[in-house]
Amino acid sequence: MPAAEPLASPPVVPGSARPLAADGRPSLIGLDVDALSDIVRPLDGGDAKRVRLRARQLFHWIHHRGAADFGSMSTLPEKLRRSLANGFSVARPEIVAAQVSADGTRKWLLRFADGQQVESVFIPEEDRGALCISTQVGCTLACTFCHTGTMPLVRNLGPAEILAQILVARDALGEWPVPGEGGGAVRRLLTNIVVMGMGEPLFNYDNIAAALRLAMDDAGLAFSRRRITLSTSGVVPRIEQCGRELGVGLAISLHAVRDELRDEIVPINRKWNIEALLDACRRYPNRRPITFEYVMLAGVNDSDDDARALVRLLADVPAKVNLIPFNPWPGAPYACSSNNRIRAFAAIVEAGGHASPVRTPRGRDIDAACGQLKTSSIRRRRTPGDAAAGPAGCAPMSVTAL
Ligand code: SAH
Ligand code: SF4
Repeated sequence: MPAAEPLASPPVVPGSARPLAADGRPSLIGLDVDALSDIVRPLDGGDAKRVRLRARQLFHWIHHRGAADFGSMSTLPEKLRRSLANGFSVARPEIVAAQVSADGTRKWLLRFADGQQVESVFIPEEDRGALCISTQVGCTLACTFCHTGTMPLVRNLGPAEILAQILVARDALGEWPVPGEGGGAVRRLLTNIVVMGMGEPLFNYDNIAAALRLAMDDAGLAFSRRRITLSTSGVVPRIEQCGRELGVGLAISLHAVRDELRDEIVPINRKWNIEALLDACRRYPNRRPITFEYVMLAGVNDSDDDARALVRLLADVPAKVNLIPFNPWPGAPYACSSNNRIRAFAAIVEAGGHASPVRTPRGRDIDAACGQLKTSSIRRRRTPGDAAAGPAGCAPMSVTAL
């Protein structure tokens, strides 16, 4: 099929299609079958049943087969494919940088239509692999140990921008389903989604909910809700809603057992304190244990007393504790606890009845570990003499190209 003609004037778009990539065309990524029906109706001219069928086929191509152009959508009539290509896009956001760590972790820096950038990270393990996705450009919260927290919030990501991170990873891993290969029986590297990248997902609830619904749609990416985990620093009023509406696994960034310390290192605690947070956890409508993340900061929150207090605090919550060695970043005001201290802390928590695996830092050599995400564009913007350069005008970071 011929290449798309240049776009003379932006089409009038029903629903929520917005440009995702630099081509400026409204993207159909992240739209459900209803929204796609609104797109197809004026282009195809059939009755309601036919419009619905075409919209379903389009949805399948975009979200199940991962088509990155309309030309490959062989079940759609040629004329419809051409009309779609003239007004719309299924292109990915620009991949500014793609890095691979010595341990196999991969990180992508993506740039969206307005030039804003975020990072996503793929962490392979022996029998599975998790993609860590971002939900905001920067973060409004300023947890003192988190690099993202030092960036100002620029904006929320839309559903397409959240979903596109999964599409980019599937593209790179070559894991789109091929007809006849046996569907779910095929082993994939990318099996889990963790919403633990840049930003606080529950401050962007509607968009993350829309993206995760599509990620869980059986006709689309078909991730089971059991393979999705959302991490929050403690946006209490949204926690129960998230469990009720999405049913995904929950992780809580606890990091301190006393309000006085948590007020300082996880400042959202001043609004919703530990008691309010644990109350919301007890009401979480999902029978799976909640993961409590606890970053190990030397001399700050890592004493035996802290470990014992943690056991008491979680006594009546179905919990698993995840001890995260602190990942350093330039200028960070903390050091990571020693291995012996982490082991002693873990032993107390385990004796108290909670599994407490220590998370192995992954991708530290490419700044891909927890709390290290922060786009190079912002770092550059802050270097002297470069104050005027916004993210859009920045050069890529130095990388190993994939
Ligand atoms: N905003 C959400 C999700 C993103 S942060 C939240 O706070 O839960 C993902 C996890 O990484 C959180 O548990 C966070 O506290 C942790 N983290 C942040 N900075 C870190 C660092 N420097 N070292 C280790 N873990 C860190
Ligand atoms: Fe934001 Fe989470 Fe980092 Fe806190 S830990 S600053 S909530 S991204």
